[in-house]
Formats: sequence, C-alpha cells, structure tokens
Amino acid sequence: MLDQLRRIVQKVNAAKDLQSALNIIVSRVRESLSTQVCSVYLLDSDINCHVLMASEGLNEEAVGHVSLELGEGLVGLVAKHAEPINLQDAPLHPSYHYLKETGEEEFHAFLGVPIIHHRAVLGVLVVQHEVRRRFDEGEEAFLITLSAQLAGVIAHAEATGAIEGISPSGQKTSDTAFAGVSGSSGVSIGEAVVVFPHADLSLIPDRRAKNIDKEIEFFATCLSAVRGDMAKLHDKLAGQVAEEERQLFNVYLHMLDDDALGNEVVERIKMGSWAQGALAYVANEHVQKFETMNDDYLSERAIDVKDLCSRVLFYLQEKETIKTEYVDNTILVSEELTPGMLVEVPKAKLKGLISVKGSGNSHVAILARTMGIPTVMGVVDLPYNQLDGRELIVDGYKGEVISNPSDQLRNRYLEIIKEQDQLIQGLEGLKDLPCETSDGHRVHLWVNTGLMSDVMQSLDQGAEGIGLFRTEVPFLLSERFPSEQEQTDIYREQLLAFSPKLVTMRTLDVGGDKALPYFPIEEANPFLGWRGIRVTLDHPEIFTAQIRAMLRASIGLENLQIMLPMISNVNEVNSATQLIKKAYRELVQEGLEVKYPPIGVMIELPAAVYQTRALCKMVDFVSVGSNDLTQYLLAVDRNNPRVANLYSAFHPAVLSALQFVVTEARTEGIPVSICGEMAGDPGAAVLLIAMGYDVLSMNATTLLKVKSVIRSMSMEAAQDLLDQAMHLDDAQMIRSAVDLALYNAGVDRLLRSSRTN
Ligand code: PEP
Ligand code: MG
Repeated sequence: MLDQLRRIVQKVNAAKDLQSALNIIVSRVRESLSTQVCSVYLLDSDINCHVLMASEGLNEEAVGHVSLELGEGLVGLVAKHAEPINLQDAPLHPSYHYLKETGEEEFHAFLGVPIIHHRAVLGVLVVQHEVRRRFDEGEEAFLITLSAQLAGVIAHAEATGAIEGISPSGQKTSDTAFAGVSGSSGVSIGEAVVVFPHADLSLIPDRRAKNIDKEIEFFATCLSAVRGDMAKLHDKLAGQVAEEERQLFNVYLHMLDDDALGNEVVERIKMGSWAQGALAYVANEHVQKFETMNDDYLSERAIDVKDLCSRVLFYLQEKETIKTEYVDNTILVSEELTPGMLVEVPKAKLKGLISVKGSGNSHVAILARTMGIPTVMGVVDLPYNQLDGRELIVDGYKGEVISNPSDQLRNRYLEIIKEQDQLIQGLEGLKDLPCETSDGHRVHLWVNTGLMSDVMQSLDQGAEGIGLFRTEVPFLLSERFPSEQEQTDIYREQLLAFSPKLVTMRTLDVGGDKALPYFPIEEANPFLGWRGIRVTLDHPEIFTAQIRAMLRASIGLENLQIMLPMISNVNEVNSATQLIKKAYRELVQEGLEVKYPPIGVMIELPAAVYQTRALCKMVDFVSVGSNDLTQYLLAVDRNNPRVANLYSAFHPAVLSALQFVVTEARTEGIPVSICGEMAGDPGAAVLLIAMGYDVLSMNATTLLKVKSVIRSMSMEAAQDLLDQAMHLDDAQMIRSAVDLALYNAGVDRLLRSSRTN
C-alpha cells in the first residue's frame, strides 16, 4: 500500500501541469482501488463552484464543463464539512445531486474525501462503484492518505496556473494572492528578479535565451567538456576496476549523446529557453521518470542523470558567471533569501523582498526591516521559479504577494504607497524632539545595527544609543573569519559614529539560523544546539580575538558595552567574564590604554528569565531578546512559516515573562532594556514602557513611529492598557485591545506599522 502511495505521489509530482497531475491521479487511483470511477472536483473561487476537473469512469465530455455550486451535492457536503463521506447507495442520500452529463446514475457506492491544504479545502477526490457496497476502511484510509499527500502538489500546480493568470478551471484570473508572513512592513510594486544558489538543478528558474544559436553553441561546449572529463575518468579507472564496471562510463557517456539527453536540451533551447533552464527541465523530467520506475536498477539511474547533468550545469555556470541584472524596481525573489543575496542588489534599486522559506523573525527579515524594505517571508506556495520579469505587489503589512494585479488593485496599492511616503515625511519633525509620554515620562529609544549604513540612518533618526550591534552581520558577509584588525576597524567605525552615545556590542551569535559559510554547523535542532555563547566559549580563540578587537576599537572613545547572547546559566557568564578580563589584562600589558567596559547579558531563554536576579548580580546591565524568548517560551521555531501564526510576542506567557524580568532587574538596581523586534512595534512599545522598560532598542526605520505613539499617550493610559492586557488570556485579544488604544489616542495611521503579532 505504502509503495503504491509513494509511486502515485511521485508520478503526480512529475506532472508538467495541473491537468496532467489530475489525470494521473484519477487513472492511478481507479487502478489501485479497482473501482469504476475516480474523479477530482476542484474549487474555482473565481466562479465559486466545484468544477469536475478530471475523471476516469464518468463521461469524458463532462470533464471541465460540469460544476456544482458551493455546498451543492455530495461533493459540496464533503467540502463543507471537510470530512469524508462513504455511502453504500449515494442516490438515496438527501444531498445527492444528479448531474446528467456525467452519466453517473449507474454508480451507487460513493466515497468522497476532501483535499485540504493549509486548512483550506481545495476540492474533493471521489471514487464510485456500480455495486451497492460501502468502501472498506482500508480503501477509505488509502484515499485520505493520498489526498493529504496530493494537496500540496495540487496547490502548487494551481498556483503555477494562477501565475499565468488562469484559474483551476481555465478562466482568466487576476489579483492572485499568495499568503506568507510579514517580514518587513510597507508596500511596493516592482518586477521580480529571481535569484538562486548555483549548481542545484532543482533551483534553476525559467528564463528566455537572449540568442538561441549562441546558447546552443555554449551548451555544446559545456557538454563536450563533461564528455572530456568522463573520458579521462574512464581512462584513469583502467586497471582499478573490472572492465565491466568501466564500461558503465560508456553508458553514461551515451546518455549525453546528441540523440539522447543532449538533443532534448537543444530542442528546448530552440523553443526559447536558456541553456541552464533547458538542462534543468530535461534533467528533472528524466530523474522523475526514473525514480518512479518499478525496477530498482532503473530507479538508480536517476542518480546518474542527476550527476551528469549537475556536471554540465557546473560548466554552464562556471563559464558564464551569472551576472544578475537588477532592474530599477527590483523585487528580489528566492527560495531562501540570504543576507548575501540582499546586499548584492544596489540599494536604490531594491524595492521588495520575497522568500519562500523563513519567517518574519528570520535574520534576513530583520536585516530587511533594518533597511526598510517591504518583505514577505514564508510564501510556501509561490511558484517562485516562474516569476522572473513579472510584475508583483509585495504587501509587507499583510504578508502577501500579489501577481497579475488588475488596474484597480494596482491603483489602490499606489495610493497606499503614497500614504506611506507622506506618513514618513510627516514624522520627520519628531527627530529632534525628546521621546516622552504626554505626561512627561522620558523613554530612551536606541537602535539595533549590523551594517555601517544602519548607523548613519540611526543617527539621522535621532537614536540615543545602540542597544544591539549584531556583530555576526559583518561575519556573515565575509568569506572567512575577519581578523582582529579587520574587526577593530569595523567596530571602531560604529563606536566613532555614535560617540559619546553608548554602543552595545553583542559577541558573535552564530548557530541557529545564522550559519557562517566558512564555519558550517550541521545539527538536527540548531536552535537548541550549538549557538551564541556556547560556540564562542568552545572557541576561546574566536571569542578572545573579538573582545580584543572591541576593546582596541574603543580606545579614547569609551562608549563600549559588551553583551553576551544565549546565556542559559551563571557559569557561562563566569567563563565569558574571565576571558574578557584576560583579554583586557593582555591589552593593558601591551601598553594600550583600554578601559574595562560594562558587561551585560541577554535574557532570551526561559531559564535566564527565572535567573534574572542571579544574573543581575554578576553584570552591569541586562537586555531582553524577545525574539528568541518568544520562540523558546512558545516552542515555535521563529523561522518556520508553518507555525508562524503561533509566534506572538503578545502571548500572555511572553508578556508575563517580560514583566517579571523588568521587575526583578529593577529590584536589583540594574539597567534593563529590550532589543527584540517587539520594541519597534508601536503598540508593543506602549506595553513595554508601562512595564517599566525605559530603553527600547529597535530598527532605525521604526524609531519615529514608536516615538510618535509614545508622545501621544500618557503613562497613565499606557499603564491602564497594560493592566487590561494582563487580564486577557489570548494573544489576539491583547493585540486588538492595543490596536484600539492606539486608535483612541488618534495614532491609528501607525497601526499598519511593522508588527510582531
Ligand atoms: C532576540 O533574540 O530578541 C535578539 C535581539 O537577538 P536575535 O534576533 O539576533 O537572535
Ligand atoms: Mg536572539
């Protein structure tokens, strides 16, 4: 059974479009269950109907033409209740709706199961039989399992059609929305530029060849280079392996012949594709074909094809280093955006970002917020490799990507963009005003930085200090560990620019979702593994070089504070402090006039929350990392789009923890700040100041919005709101209460601002 399921899913996966996928489903399921009819009805929301999209057993002419209104017939019932219906004699059921065109009157047994993707019913998979009998438990389980596995494939195929402007039943469609999560607020309209990591056949986007003849010639050169390599390998193996095995290389070589794979690629290039795309298409087709074969030997050939084609791809990419052309209004799209991809685009051209993987709390999203670029993350159903050159709308408020926008929708978004610009201009006047509540309670707004460009922007926005300098950002953008001197130069720039204001430098926080390309960490549970201080304490040479660089950079400026990430116990603080002291002593011995800086820890693990008092006794300040604290308290991976809806800093458990930390730290008389993303959410900021946080550290792009909200509220109103929030037991309700308070304070135009949910 499992084997049958696997084969069907593989076959369907290999289908070239939605219709072929559905045809495979109905024919394979009918065969596997030895039933007389198998059909798929899909919801077409453009016409609000379930359309018979494919069938084996019902009249062919009915396919694509027959549809049921929502809730109509047994199909409508299955979809409405999102539950299977298994009937011995369907015509006797009160909901039975006879569709004359299908010729289904002769079939009595009926089993319909819903096709559900991300909680939404996409359609219904139906099997029918003449004989009056209930489908047995095994058959029902088979169909349910299959439907669950196929839902994703169908959703993907539907999305691919939607990108072309076609609804499942072939109607013209526009304003196709793909849901993701907000990565960075704001709206933009632009042209998609798809970027992808090199040498992975499954990640090559479709592109048009600029010059078909040249493309064919280029492909032929690369092919012959691979032939040359294979021939060399063949010779090299003489005497080392049996002659019979050596012959395998000949088989391999034949695969590349002009009348085999090579020819297919050329044919596809002739149809207009660029060589890499043509190769990837042909390779993937063959790989999938081989993988679905029943014969083990032939299935294994999939690996050969993959290997051979990757070799050709390597040549195609090596010889023609892909120079991505960034258009003036680039919407950068990738399966998984990395900070490196982002900084490759000239800043003035980058209008929006879309990542299929990741979530609003991924570091690439944080970087995007720092740069103020509308971003949508975790758009899991987006057929991203079909998007190159298409017009897209990035709605970073809602976390949505829209393709094929109608004129009406485009105009609406252009209005929002205008409003957005006006709002930003309107806030300019606040830059030099103090951040205080309407009843005079002073709050300090600091910034989080990573790049030097953040520093410039922050000063421009009136930031009063740096609450978090993510030192891993320059490490992430480098090709090896930066030397002590290189680090000194980078740190000095930040300290100098902000002097005499304080700059909080966090020691290297890699691991989790932040992997250095030159220091890979492979772990099953990276967020619970070797991360932050755990890595640097195990590598004192890296830690010490960084501390020395920070101390040297601060000579004469004396505005440095050092902060330790991912602290889970007091021993880590002890060990790190010892190393810092040692580095300091060495520098003093070297004759440098360094000053010993204040040392602080991040409170970002639940364990640290409950040890706030103990930690406060060991350090000069603490800062709450609400991004990780939310992740660890709620057991929700901050990067996983599937559970992004569960990630909320407004969860009562998170708010209680935040209140606990500030109260404990104040009892110990230790300065306490917050540098997680929620500090930059205007609504959350109100709750935080009411709790007692008087230093909020955020992205420069949100600073004036937060200032605007704080200045329009009294501390008394903020405290009332906090009191109300602490009595609610649901994150969504708390969010609504906060939104309402902002509305009452007359600052609802800021409600759209970057949200932490
Ligand atoms: C946090 O976890 O809240 C934080 C500020 O650190 P990062 O987002 O870099 O993990
Ligand atoms: Mg953190």
